[in-house]
Amino acid sequence: MPVTPKYPYLRDGVDVYLGESDEVTFVYLSTRKRLTIKCHPGLVQSLTSMRGRKTVGDIQRLFQQTYPNSGLEDSKVEDFIGYLHEKNIVVDENWFDELGLPAAYQERLKRQLYFLMDLVNDTSRIADIQRRILETKVVICGVGAMGGWIARELAMMGFLKFVLIDHDITEASDAARHAFSNNSRLGQSKANVVADGLREIDPEICVAIHSFAITVETILDEVMDGAGLLINAADEPYIGYTSVKLSRYAVKNDLPLLVAGGFDAHLASFGEMIIPRITPCADCYVNYFRASLADWKPVPHPVADRSRGFGGWSPLSVVSASASALQVLKYFIDPKLVYTGRRTEFLAPDYSTYTFKVDRDIHCKICGN
Ligand SMILES: [Zn+2]
Repeated sequence: MPVTPKYPYLRDGVDVYLGESDEVTFVYLSTRKRLTIKCHPGLVQSLTSMRGRKTVGDIQRLFQQTYPNSGLEDSKVEDFIGYLHEKNIVVDENWFDELGLPAAYQERLKRQLYFLMDLVNDTSRIADIQRRILETKVVICGVGAMGGWIARELAMMGFLKFVLIDHDITEASDAARHAFSNNSRLGQSKANVVADGLREIDPEICVAIHSFAITVETILDEVMDGAGLLINAADEPYIGYTSVKLSRYAVKNDLPLLVAGGFDAHLASFGEMIIPRITPCADCYVNYFRASLADWKPVPHPVADRSRGFGGWSPLSVVSASASALQVLKYFIDPKLVYTGRRTEFLAPDYSTYTFKVDRDIHCKICGN
């Protein structure tokens, strides 16, 4: 027998469409999934009582008063509410208050927690997901046009502990593309600018800063310091090299790594999540390209100095950062939900996407079986 909530509440994330008198369709807004059921018209009508002020008993009594000859037993009303609860259409009125997260934090994250309710349908799991987000330290390599937006979105998603690694300073053009930079902060350390911006989102946010770039010499153990999530959004040195270094570290330490952004001639990539032994690692990608591009003879670009390339640009960087942030959220819901082994790029001219898939190489020297 399904469990029924004490004060049934028809969730705001579900739209209700009435069909024939005995038919009702529910549409889950986050997923656009639909559920159509047929039942006694009185049960359909009883939905209007499920606003959190009436108990299951009140709703049963109201039903029997309105439909004295329905022939339905009280237990059918309770079963109906239990069924809707199981389908995440009806919840308990107080589910949000009972999550047990710090009050101000929970209030700030309200919209995300409601969104999670659409996806997860289990209040104790939602509380657990958000608590893990709250406790996880994120290391972001590179907080320029891409990393800055990712840092911002992750702070807005409730991450409170950050390590930012960036050696660069802000310049005039950053004011048109960077999540936090503006004209009053020209020539300042990007990591400092981002750190200040994050603390404005939530004063509880703690940020450590390292003013260097990741190179082959960097001893990652010295900067990771209890990290639970790594993000590579650095464009210097070449992101392909730093990603291999970070990915090997991630596999060895069983940490998720998000390689983000509009790098390497791609302007709005969705970013790939590397999860040890679930997705391909950076070496798997390298092996894939080595095999698939075996006959390709690279020709140097005719322009040697390409420093004037336009790089990150806010509309495209924000697309990439948002796709990346959603990957992170999915990882925290369930690592198996992550968009695995695919590189996707958003193509702004016609709003299409281009994707190719790379399989995990089970013989990979780094992450293979
Ligand atoms: Zn691998």
